[in-house]
Amino acid sequence: MITSRAFAGKRYAVLGLARSGAAATEALLASGAQVLAWDRQEEPRTAFAGRCTLADPLEADLTGFAGIVVSPGVALNTHPIAAHAARFGVPVIGDIELFAQARPGLPPHKVVGITGTNGKSTTTALVAHILQCAGIPALMGGNIGIPIMEQQPLEPNDKGVGVYVLELSSYQIDLTLNLDCEIVVLLNITPDHLDRYDNFEAYAASKGRLFKMQSAGHSAVVSASTEAALAQALDLDQLVVCVDSAANPEDQSRWPSLQGPHNLENAQCARVTCELLGLSASEIELGLRSYSSLPHRMERVTEHNGVLFINDSKATNTASTAPALAAFPPAPEPRIHWILGGLAKEEGLGECMDQLGNVAVAYTIGEAGPRFAELLEPHVPVVRSEMLNEAVQLAIERSRPGDVILLSPACASFDQFRDFERRGECFRQIVAALTNASPEIRAALARGCPE
Ligand code: ADP
Repeated sequence: MITSRAFAGKRYAVLGLARSGAAATEALLASGAQVLAWDRQEEPRTAFAGRCTLADPLEADLTGFAGIVVSPGVALNTHPIAAHAARFGVPVIGDIELFAQARPGLPPHKVVGITGTNGKSTTTALVAHILQCAGIPALMGGNIGIPIMEQQPLEPNDKGVGVYVLELSSYQIDLTLNLDCEIVVLLNITPDHLDRYDNFEAYAASKGRLFKMQSAGHSAVVSASTEAALAQALDLDQLVVCVDSAANPEDQSRWPSLQGPHNLENAQCARVTCELLGLSASEIELGLRSYSSLPHRMERVTEHNGVLFINDSKATNTASTAPALAAFPPAPEPRIHWILGGLAKEEGLGECMDQLGNVAVAYTIGEAGPRFAELLEPHVPVVRSEMLNEAVQLAIERSRPGDVILLSPACASFDQFRDFERRGECFRQIVAALTNASPEIRAALARGCPE
């Protein structure tokens, strides 16, 4: 765990005791702080009985508190905690800010902060993987993997100092005041999470704050894929490297887990980041080649009878699905059997409409299904499927060797699944069952999802 003398003898409130909140509380306690902790559910509170004051910070007098640590899941624009904290002049922070404050006491190290609307997890995992392949101590944290305050601090080795590679969502950046990253990577900004911000500009500015926290000698890597990201990188004092992957195509066949134009953006941003960290071209190439994709992001599930099954359940908006469609051009006929739908975040299908030339058949599911079917029917054959299992079954029946069955829903999952992970797991189970099963079992499965 990461502890710091900076917290000793101070008082903090923690609101939300899920993983990062619980880790922050443990780290504060181990550092000698006093903690007032709260979660609206009883079970997570019990772990801290006798060690913290258990009370709702919203009803507490916060005079003299050094900070209130809130989970990124708390909507600061609507939750009353922001106004309550402001009354006492107490900063509202997250676990990344605690990490930032603990940094001066850690062994020498660097921090890479990675943000953007899409591609954060992939680029974070990729940078950490390239560094680890080159023998440099590296840890992932932030919006990915184990909460940062729960991890063992990195020690330098003979290859160099350790690198914390942090995936940072805009919610986490909103709760961070002092994180001076050696390198900030901004991948892209497209409309998302607009329920949490006044407007798109406010959402974009939230990502731009990562640059504002950097000191002048540090660096920024910005992808040119969206104007909104470039606009955040104007007039900065630090070194800014612009990556234009659309203008610099490369042979991606040597990187099996980094297919599609979106992954070219991720790979080129990761490469520049690692160059700035001092890695050689051959060290970086080794990492790009050996990287294997994260679950539910363009994940190759299996190949059966010459048909490739791809699980891209993490594609919850149209900007992340469009590049998945672009990854499989016609050969020579369109070959994507595209399963889409769920709980729509946007009105239409956005940039996906530009990729319909790659789609053989679209299979619509979930709440957005009927609307998407209407939008698509003038352009491509559409099968209105409703349920995922039905869509996979019908796609298998219609596909030919060389085709790709792609789950890339362009929607949130909550209408039919607990989360995008469960949706992706369900897809894998259905594919495994349908590709291995006897015709009778297949028929039975087509009638009911294994969920
Ligand atoms: P994030 O952590 O930002 O949500 P992920 O790496 O988990 O990003 O990818 C989320 C979804 O977006 C996946 O469907 C993935 O295929 C797609 N994606 C990944 N990188 C990009 C990118 N650079 N631009 C657009 N979409 C992307």
